[in-house]
Amino acid sequence: FDQRDGEIWFNGEFVAWKDAKIHVLTHGLHYASAVFEGERAYGGEVFKLRAHTERLIESGRILGFKVPYTADEIDAATTELLARQGFSDAYVRPIAWRGSEMMGVAAQNNRINVAIAIWQWPSYFDPEQKMKGIRLDLAEYRRPDPMTAPSKSKAAGLYMICTISKHAAEAKGYADALMLDWRGQVAEATGANVFFVKDGVLHTPKPDCFLDGITRRTVVDLAKRRGIEVVERAIMPEELSGFSECFLTGTAAEVTPVSEIADWRFTPGAISKRLVDDYAAEVMPKQAAAE
Ligand code: PMP
Repeated sequence: FDQRDGEIWFNGEFVAWKDAKIHVLTHGLHYASAVFEGERAYGGEVFKLRAHTERLIESGRILGFKVPYTADEIDAATTELLARQGFSDAYVRPIAWRGSEMMGVAAQNNRINVAIAIWQWPSYFDPEQKMKGIRLDLAEYRRPDPMTAPSKSKAAGLYMICTISKHAAEAKGYADALMLDWRGQVAEATGANVFFVKDGVLHTPKPDCFLDGITRRTVVDLAKRRGIEVVERAIMPEELSGFSECFLTGTAAEVTPVSEIADWRFTPGAISKRLVDDYAAEVMPKQAAAE
């Protein structure tokens, strides 16, 4: 992945993709003092770029550091990099991390570095294929109590249990895993939020110990625009047998119907289809969508 052509924006400059390197004694690597974003460009524009940039800056603030660029500067860098890479539809990965000036838990003097990379990652908008749904396992690890982790930050360290859970699910032939939270309530997948349908109403867990995804909020708005009621509440795993449909939402996942979670079964249906389609329309740049 590090041997590609193209450029990466690195601390204010465009550098060759292969040369965007850091030292092995980087604090972000040893102590997970890093925050990142995942964004998608559609039709040459990053969907909800400002919201992602603001979340990146806020994630850094929660970890106790100031991202040394303004939101305007990061947005401009992203837009210019997208044009220089020449992609119209792409995935965007900004990251900010503490550098290598000090090595130890304390890193007060370490530089805060910022990089942005953009690569092609086709969005999966073949609705027919999507409507088959993906299979999820139930993860062993649980999302931590906000008293034990900075759960509002898109912090690299919080993904340790996600990678372990995703690998365990994949080893059993599943696409992903549903994670419960520390109380045993349904939380989210390893990189996407979760919704359920019962009697025409959408149910989704309250994001009080995991990321309130930008896609999640978009889908809540799209559903309300269609007159679909949305209930945000605590959902216990025992309730899963009572839901007819289930789908995941996330920048990478977009709206992805789910057909199985461990022993529970769902049939992707009308509400999932409506929101897959509405989200596909919503992400397109407005003038392009009007053409
Ligand atoms: N939860 C986790 C753990 C994630 O990694 C993501 C993807 N960023 C989401 C939820 C969905 O967030 P968004 O819709 O902002 O991409």
